[in-house]
Amino acid sequence: MNHDAGAILVLSGPSGAGKSSLIKKIEDEIGAFYFSISTTTRPMREGEIDGVHYHFVSKEQFESDIEKENFLEYAVVHGNYYGTSIKPVKKALKEGKLVLFDIDVQGHDAVQKRLADITTSVFVTTPTLRELEHRLTARGTDAQEIIDKRIEMAKREVQRICEYDYLVINDDLDEAAKVLVNIAKAARMKIPSIAINEFILEWENEA
Ligand code: 5GP
Repeated sequence: MNHDAGAILVLSGPSGAGKSSLIKKIEDEIGAFYFSISTTTRPMREGEIDGVHYHFVSKEQFESDIEKENFLEYAVVHGNYYGTSIKPVKKALKEGKLVLFDIDVQGHDAVQKRLADITTSVFVTTPTLRELEHRLTARGTDAQEIIDKRIEMAKREVQRICEYDYLVINDDLDEAAKVLVNIAKAARMKIPSIAINEFILEWENEA
């Protein structure tokens, strides 16, 4: 059976749960992958680079892309638009890569609706809400008002953990990374329904 086809691994979880650090930690261990760089209208944070962390665009540009149906999914998160462009994702899947998404619960829902049979999903969170508050404050990149918004959002997001295939508690980064590597490897082995039919046909007909 062809296990070289691309697959999708969605990571969701509160801002500050450590998704980016985890992705960095596992990137040498999961084979060929493409990290989907989202487009957003939120202001750039210190240290972020346009085209690396996000494609930073204006609201007008984003809304024009929505109209042109350029997004696989998009959502409003913390009052800003965030979206996944279709084109690079399609290309990476064709190349047989594992496509990593760091998207929120709404984005995950949309991806599941369109591409469930090649999608594996993981919810990443801190062990406790208190720890999340601590990490967001220690990060020092956001004003208190924004941190408060993110905490409120996190409380709503954890209510939807049951929609995910896996829950990874990022207490110890190395341990969480090990678990995620295993999930990423399994995600690649997920069989799209079309491949199952092909396999059965071949299995029955091969001499
Ligand atoms: P941040 O502003 O901290 O980078 O991201 C805020 C939230 O937006 C995170 O939960 C992140 O997963 C989510 N996010 C980032 N890119 C996308 C995207 O393309 N689509 C959706 N739906 N959510 C996204």
